[in-house]
Amino acid sequence: MNAGRQEFQDCLIDGGRLLIAADFDQQDEFLELGSDRSRLRSPGHQAVIEAASTNEVAAIVRLALQNNQPLRIAGGRTGLVGGAIAGQDEIVVSLKRMDHILGYDSNLNALELEAGVITAHAETRARELGMRFPIDLAASGSSQVGGNIATHAGGNRVVYNGLLRHYIVGLTVVTGTGEILELNETVLKNNTGYPLLQLFIGSEGTLGVITKARIRLTPGPRDLKTALFALNHPQAAFDVLHLFENAGVPLQAFEFFDELACQLVCSHLSIKPPFVLHQGAAADQSQPAGAYVLVEWDGAEVHSDQMMSVFEQIEASFPGLPGRLADNSRDRADLWRYRESISESISMEFLAAKNDISIPLDMIPEFIANLGNWVAAIVQQTKSVDDTDLDMPDLQATVIGHLADGTLHINLLGPAVRSQPDQNRIIAFQQAAKSINEKVYNYIYRNGGSISAEHGIGILKREALMQFHDAATMQYMRAIKQVFDPGGILNPGVLFVEASADERAP
Ligand SMILES: Cc1cc2nc3c(=O)[nH]c(=O)nc-3n(C[C@H](O)[C@H](O)[C@H](O)COP(=O)(O)OP(=O)(O)OC[C@H]3O[C@@H](n4cnc5c(N)ncnc54)[C@H](O)[C@@H]3O)c2cc1C
Repeated sequence: MNAGRQEFQDCLIDGGRLLIAADFDQQDEFLELGSDRSRLRSPGHQAVIEAASTNEVAAIVRLALQNNQPLRIAGGRTGLVGGAIAGQDEIVVSLKRMDHILGYDSNLNALELEAGVITAHAETRARELGMRFPIDLAASGSSQVGGNIATHAGGNRVVYNGLLRHYIVGLTVVTGTGEILELNETVLKNNTGYPLLQLFIGSEGTLGVITKARIRLTPGPRDLKTALFALNHPQAAFDVLHLFENAGVPLQAFEFFDELACQLVCSHLSIKPPFVLHQGAAADQSQPAGAYVLVEWDGAEVHSDQMMSVFEQIEASFPGLPGRLADNSRDRADLWRYRESISESISMEFLAAKNDISIPLDMIPEFIANLGNWVAAIVQQTKSVDDTDLDMPDLQATVIGHLADGTLHINLLGPAVRSQPDQNRIIAFQQAAKSINEKVYNYIYRNGGSISAEHGIGILKREALMQFHDAATMQYMRAIKQVFDPGGILNPGVLFVEASADERAP
């Protein structure tokens, strides 16, 4: 620590606490506090400070700036791009103790929350008020509202609600100089200069620590319906999407996953596939479904005849392909399990490389076909090399996503974890994944889209970011970073290629 432990301890005037490795019996527990779900690198933090108030965060940041001490901001640590992984000698600033729901602003229909509130707890409070929190994601049980704002998280409600940034009407932020900015709106319309509040949304902790937020709620569906359809080809997902859209059904969710993802979940959870497949159907045992879509809508917003007509058209367009409808919470949870357990099933069973991108909707079928070809080419190519360590016979790709808004989560799967792959195989897999990701990015540069639809840049995509934006855009981004964090002490290495200790000096 560049400043003494006692000096940091003295900042904790409201009940926050400072932890070091010696406070833990299990070192893994300490290391875990400086890591995230990406596991992109090993954490190297010296201490963890669990701040209890905005004033504490401000005092810590001021002391850190005076001592050129890099800080790593930790929310729920569910991030997938390494943004919350602490670098060497950093101090982790955790928001987990700032988990209070402070109130409800009835004028703006907004919850007032500390940044460390778990996303699912915000949803529970919203439901008590007869509303919904505007976002929901498979990580909601662990992610924090501050982390959601810092990453500008998407999730499965974007198709109905739109983006999270439209619901945020207030933020309290501690900048990299330790100043506290109160960026709070009391009214919806306010055109008074640069909208600084918006700048912090999606800034991935590089400009300031978000300590509080005011977020508007949405009305909940009155009669939520959920259906899962098996399809013979990813393209068919778009046909189903268009049938719903053409019938004027406002979608609450439209989630896509491929057959491989479904099989992985069934095998990991030891559960049956969603459908009893029968001989002669396009999705029979010997010819599994090519894809699935999970669709939600509010029965109160749609006439039952309208829905009947959509179902008839789906049946006519895809004869023999099964579907399941859920209209109670238990059946709904059963269907969502196939979608929401994909990430966990993959992480537990395989070496995996995750990517999250968005592509213009009409390019998605072509993109998915190309991805299959790129993977097949690598498998073929590695077979022809003499060194068997480089063979990638087990390389596979699975695609899932919030399809209606163009988001695709690509998972490249390597050797099974239980095969205990040695270092050579791990490196061979990483090289194969890198080569495919380059093809993915080139496709996006040529055809439009985004190299990060939801998860952000973190440390994973900072090189790709420099290719994605032109030099002038990157220069303005760096200039903005310099204004809010002149010492470069907040989340070094996120968004921008790592600054050295010398560059960080004020
Ligand atoms: C199973 C699973 C499913 C997921 N599904 C989705 C999905 O559908 N959509 C999606 O967008 N993401 C998804 N994610 C990714 C992740 O959950 C989101 O990025 C989430 O918003 C991260 O929140 P967190 O609190 O865990 O943040 P963390 O992982 O702790 O941090 C993420 C970044 O934000 C910074 N940060 C955290 N808190 C603050 C704060 N208070 N102030 C300033 N900076 C802060 C961190 O330093 C880091 O750079 C998923 C992850 C998993 C594991």
